[in-house]
Amino acid sequence: MNYAAARIIADLNARHGNLAQSQQEHGVDYHNVREYNRSLVLNLIRENGPVPRVEIARRTDLSRTTVSAIIDALLHEGFVREGESLDAAPSGGRRATLVHFNEGAGAILGVDIGRSHLTFLITNLYGVIQAHYSGPFDVTLGPEQCIPILITELKKFIAASNTPWEDFISIGVGVPSPLDSSAHKLISPPYMPGWDGTDVVAELSREFHIPVFLDNDANLGALGESKYGAGKNIHNFAYVKIGTGIGCGLIIDGNVYRGSSGSAGELGHVTIDPNGPKCGCGNYGCLESLASARVIIAESRLSQWFAEAPISGVSQKQLRSNEILNITDAIAAALAGDETSRKAFVRAGEYIGIALGGLINLFNPEVIILDGGVARAGALLIDAIARTAEARSVKTAWRKTHIIPGDLDKNAIALGAVAMVIDRAFGTLRLSAP
Ligand SMILES: [Zn+2]
Repeated sequence: MNYAAARIIADLNARHGNLAQSQQEHGVDYHNVREYNRSLVLNLIRENGPVPRVEIARRTDLSRTTVSAIIDALLHEGFVREGESLDAAPSGGRRATLVHFNEGAGAILGVDIGRSHLTFLITNLYGVIQAHYSGPFDVTLGPEQCIPILITELKKFIAASNTPWEDFISIGVGVPSPLDSSAHKLISPPYMPGWDGTDVVAELSREFHIPVFLDNDANLGALGESKYGAGKNIHNFAYVKIGTGIGCGLIIDGNVYRGSSGSAGELGHVTIDPNGPKCGCGNYGCLESLASARVIIAESRLSQWFAEAPISGVSQKQLRSNEILNITDAIAAALAGDETSRKAFVRAGEYIGIALGGLINLFNPEVIILDGGVARAGALLIDAIARTAEARSVKTAWRKTHIIPGDLDKNAIALGAVAMVIDRAFGTLRLSAP
């Protein structure tokens, strides 16, 4: 029996059992002073540890007796351990023993469900990756086929890892879809036929019997980069994922900003050209209809380069039938100097830059982090984006904005799912200053 994991699961069920409370609630419901103090001490050790008991008492303003009682309970449950002593204090007083957070007390499963891929991670309670899986997936098969495949793959992954099942505290999941207000169901996901209303939380909870939390992939990508990647210690930034769709997660004052009904960040459906092509959302000329991977791929397909030197084992016949060619091939063609493919990226970058110019004017972020398959084109795309965004934003807002690639490669969303679980498990209660 893992007491710490069991305690976290009980807490999560008690706090979040009624998820209709809304996904916007980040904090923990501290039903009594004891719980409040316990969270304060545990988060202090978790985020600033190792620390001596006396320091915990000083920083929390709690009595040493109270702190000792809390730490004894945390030691008993396995959340903390006591390590080596500090050198004797200059005053010659007693040596202080350091209290460490026990990051191995539980394990988290982070899941990124993409339209064409699955990424799974197992991490400890500090979000350090212990095991990783990445494989193909095809959401167009619909949920009746996809959910059983997802469950089977997860079970295989867990079985192949060295992590005992009793250590798992929760599953965090990212999906490329808007969610209902309880963050259980997918609502009209673009390019995912049959998935509208699918309750992913219920499907996975029924199978795995531990708490499951769901969020939109762009929000989780933003959270992942914020906790572990290029957005670390940056309080205001936008995470923009450019792939089949274009999504955006906003971090404002260190937290994911969701808006009044949870749909903030729909950058892909900002109108760029009122007379533009029809978009998946039903509107015309949205950014996504002008600059997503499918547009770039379609333009690259017209290129002479592909007709003459097909790569990745793509045959002429497959190219002509509009199959196979993917964004990786288009990037390869552009980087190899193919003019048509290169222009496709630059044009997409300019459209994205127009949208980001608007975002910069409205929101004045410190950084814009680019991720997703299209963003892997690197400087070719980022230069076009930055040039246009600068031209289309007011100087005072642009002055400080850096446009940079993400740091977490293809793990940003799954790591964001892990970070969501950690925030839910421990709450965000902390002392404002040391
Ligand atoms: Zn649209």
